[in-house]
Formats: sequence, C-alpha cells, structure tokens
Amino acid sequence: MSYDDQNIFAKILRGEIPNDTVYEDDHVLAFRDIQPQAPTHVLVIPKGAYVSFDDFAENGSDEEFAAYVRAIGKVARQERVAPVAGGNGFRMISNAGEDGVQEVPHLHMHILGGRRIGRMIQPPRE
Ligand code: AMP
Repeated sequence: MSYDDQNIFAKILRGEIPNDTVYEDDHVLAFRDIQPQAPTHVLVIPKGAYVSFDDFAENGSDEEFAAYVRAIGKVARQERVAPVAGGNGFRMISNAGEDGVQEVPHLHMHILGGRRIGRMIQPPRE
C-alpha cells in the first residue's frame, strides 16, 4: 500500500489541522486522540511517511526506530501510566490494514491507560 499524503495525520504533521500535542522531537509527534477510549489515550506517530508498523520496520532508519521507541516510553512516563515510573500500567496498540481495522493510514501507536483496559481481544463489533 502506498502512502496517502492526504491522510489526517499527514495533515496534522503539516500543521493543516490542529492537534493536542503532548510530545514532539525531530522524528516523532504524540498527541491526544480526538475520541479517547480511556482517561489517557495518546497517539504516537513517526514524522516520516509510513503507512503502518510493518512499513516502518521495512523502510525506517535505525535513528527513527530509536526515536520512536524512546518517545513511546517518554509519553507513558509523562502521562504517569508507565509502571517503571510508578504508574498503574498501559496498553500499546498499533492497528495495521483491513483486518487490523486501521482507520488512518499513517503509523500510530495508541497508548491507553488510566483505567483497566480489559481483555486484549474483544469480539468483533462490526
Ligand atoms: P486506527 O483505527 O488505529 O487507525 O485509529 C485512528 C485513531 O485516530 C482513532 O482512535 C481516532 O479517534 C483518531 N483520530 C482521528 N482523527 C483524529 C484527529 N484529528 N486528532 C486526533 N485523533 C484523531
């Protein structure tokens, strides 16, 4: 799947749509989900044009990988959900493709916490 530069997160990265940023560095932007599913619901995205995690893994640089992983950890600590910093825990989810029910075709990691998130896999809703 090729990258669609009209997707909503590409527009956020270009500053065309506002967002509630919680963290930013040269390679990564993290912002609050517009329809939060938990008290903490942050999306962490690479600034590079990657459709999904597998695209990133295949085509990203080691520098981008390091920045992405560290940013996810920073966000979890900053949001006070990271157990390593005394938080009560969180879940990371990255949906990919049709079966993964990915709505926005720019890689994003959901960071969910602040409540018990529940079983890992729910029955399909659609
Ligand atoms: P996914 O189904 O994994 O692709 O998730 C896409 C997520 O993006 C959903 O949780 C949406 O609520 C969220 N979302 C869509 N548009 C925006 C936006 N403009 N700002 C923040 N989050 C958004």
